[in-house]
Amino acid sequence: MSHNLSGLHPGNDPTCEIITIGSELLLGQIQDTNTVYLAHEMACLGIAVHFRTSVGDRLNEMEQAIRSAVDRCDLVLTTGGLGPTLDDLTREAVSAVAGVGLEYRQDLMDEIEAMFRRYGYVMPENNRRQAYVPAGSAAISNPVGTAPAFITEIAQRPVICLPGVPRELRYLMTHEVLPWVRKRFNIVDHRVSYQVLKVVGLGESGVDRLIQDLIKPGDNPEVGLLASEGEIKIRIAAVAEGDQGAAALIDPVAAEIRSRLGTKIFGEGDDTLEGVINALLHQRGLTLALLETFTGGLAAERLFAVPGSRLLQGSIIPDTRRVAEFLGQEEAVLEPESVLTSAHRVREKAGVDVGLAILGFVQVGQENQPVLKACAAAAGEGISKAFSWEMGGDPFILRARGAVIGLNTLRLALL
Ligand code: ATP
Ligand code: MG
Repeated sequence: MSHNLSGLHPGNDPTCEIITIGSELLLGQIQDTNTVYLAHEMACLGIAVHFRTSVGDRLNEMEQAIRSAVDRCDLVLTTGGLGPTLDDLTREAVSAVAGVGLEYRQDLMDEIEAMFRRYGYVMPENNRRQAYVPAGSAAISNPVGTAPAFITEIAQRPVICLPGVPRELRYLMTHEVLPWVRKRFNIVDHRVSYQVLKVVGLGESGVDRLIQDLIKPGDNPEVGLLASEGEIKIRIAAVAEGDQGAAALIDPVAAEIRSRLGTKIFGEGDDTLEGVINALLHQRGLTLALLETFTGGLAAERLFAVPGSRLLQGSIIPDTRRVAEFLGQEEAVLEPESVLTSAHRVREKAGVDVGLAILGFVQVGQENQPVLKACAAAAGEGISKAFSWEMGGDPFILRARGAVIGLNTLRLALL
């Protein structure tokens, strides 16, 4: 069997549709976390999810959804609608599409009654509904709830119906459904392994430009980009038998990406920019102090949160209007030289080895749009690096980006 990670290309991989059932989903009253969970589990098996559908508790629409899912995918997973009340209609909908009646199962009834007895309740009459499954289905008993799940084969395609309660869903998936699906689709110890490389100092399109030729959806390994808060994650995913097989696929691609991006890659996996900086400071036995204006202490906050933080002397966050004073100027001019001087001054004042200054103020730019003019500098014994930039946009984003750029300037200065 071939393995195709994105599932975007037709291949030999089994395809799957996820159907979540419940009017509350369509009313926006709850988050559909079941779909996210199931999609991730399917991706881990190398099963390609082609459609995600949500329907309300209406029989006719549930039937339509199940019918089209069975028409277009090899495997259908549903959640919800297995409860005891009259608006829990999954059993009826699947029966109708399968063209069979509902079958009473005494074994399921006994389990449901036992469940109530264990908790000291008498079973309400309407829970009898849950002892019915579409005729010929395989039932999956539910030791963590009352609703049994079931698997109905329709035209040789399994439709697996699971409870909506996330905790019950996860339990049944882990203990019953995933092993069943592996067996049914001959999925033998194939795993998806990932390596994540983290980039700062380049936008998504910048990264894309450098490694475009390596990004081919459907390849094994597959390279993908994920951007957030001034950082880009490059995810290299491979499907292979065992960890060694995955490493053999991933390592050469990771090495190629590293050689192209060099120091733009600050770490991998769970590494954070502040964690990497702290490790660099630690290695060299250096301590740090900060001066920041428009970022409002965000860079300090990130550095301070690292266990064993080297940010020993806290930080200074002056009013933006006092930037000039800190620069020792009449009127603030953010030249790399003057910001480097401030970084030195911070370091001397705080009695530490390295000073980092992240300074900026908002000016009125073209078309009366506010533009942030900023400069970050790191200074110390044999350490000197400054970076200037201009950026417009939402103040919240300017602040987050400013912290990232400032921290990255420090990181590059320490390398
Ligand atoms: P039960 O036997 O507990 O009634 P059920 O199969 O009938 O289970 P639902 O009644 O549809 O499931 O949903 C039960 C609860 O599970 C909902 O109130 C909701 O909080 C949660 N739930 C349902 N569907 C989802 C979903 N797609 N994502 C996250 N939570 C869900
Ligand atoms: Mg219900």
